[in-house]
Amino acid sequence: MAKPKYEGYCKGKPTYRVREKYEGTNIYVQNAKSLLTKTSGFISSYDFSLNPYRGCQYGCSYCYAAAFSPNSKMRQDWGNWVIIKENAQEVLEKELIRWYRKNPDRPPRIYMSTVTDPYQPIEGKERLTRSLLEVMREYPVILVIQTRSPLITQDIPQLQRIPHLRVNLTIPTGSEEVRKDFEPRSPTIKARLNAVKLIRESIDETKGFVPKLSITITPTLPTPVAEQEAFIKKLRIADRIVIQEFHASTRGSLVASTRPKALALKEKYSWWYDNEQQNYQQFKDKLMSLLPGIEIREGKAGFSYD
Ligand code: SF4
Repeated sequence: MAKPKYEGYCKGKPTYRVREKYEGTNIYVQNAKSLLTKTSGFISSYDFSLNPYRGCQYGCSYCYAAAFSPNSKMRQDWGNWVIIKENAQEVLEKELIRWYRKNPDRPPRIYMSTVTDPYQPIEGKERLTRSLLEVMREYPVILVIQTRSPLITQDIPQLQRIPHLRVNLTIPTGSEEVRKDFEPRSPTIKARLNAVKLIRESIDETKGFVPKLSITITPTLPTPVAEQEAFIKKLRIADRIVIQEFHASTRGSLVASTRPKALALKEKYSWWYDNEQQNYQQFKDKLMSLLPGIEIREGKAGFSYD
């Protein structure tokens, strides 16, 4: 079958036209054949990963997901296009019905998302992720939501209806300067911390289930020593903190540093990366000493639901 062609990234007649420009992003609409993808590797403790969108408006410099773009032009333009899986709600419902036919007593473990952010800006308009949470209310799942977006707070009532939920809010650094360099389009650190706080404070045990709350400092980017303590103290609002070293690779493998821009930035931050292991270890030691009673996990173990 011929590969689909996307307007703006192809020669000749496109298969998919730009539906609109949304905040500078080319938006396309497709129907998905399936929503639930079997997992392996880093998230192998889950049955499925779930990505409501393809592509991501945040376009973080270190994002490995760019490697899964439909073509090389779109890979190079990572962050400037998004494909909406328009029939996602319907497909998910069918897949969960099928799962429960085979496994009537076991809710599937789902990780949302691995190659997109389910609460990137377009979600504020499309409410696609929200529609999937509505399906999960009918067909229970064990769910982890991975996002860096405060938009998730708009779905607090929906989050409370999921009996087994962990929210992972990503904040890879305590430095705004570092954030702006590595992920200039993403929400500020303050906005993300406020989002975790708002979820924590708004959850009402009398109105539903209480989600677990993690802050994932992943990949762990530099935070200047002078800013570390103040940052770490703000993380007390989470139940779990996850850290993970930033492994550089130019081999296109599934590690969080496959984009050239991120590799160049590592040179700018040589004060951290020239001695990365030691800086990472010192940061980890500070987390342990300043956050007694809060679970600190590393790498794969940190991304598990339990
Ligand atoms: S938010 Fe996540 S999926 Fe989106 S670009 Fe950043 S790292 Fe990639």
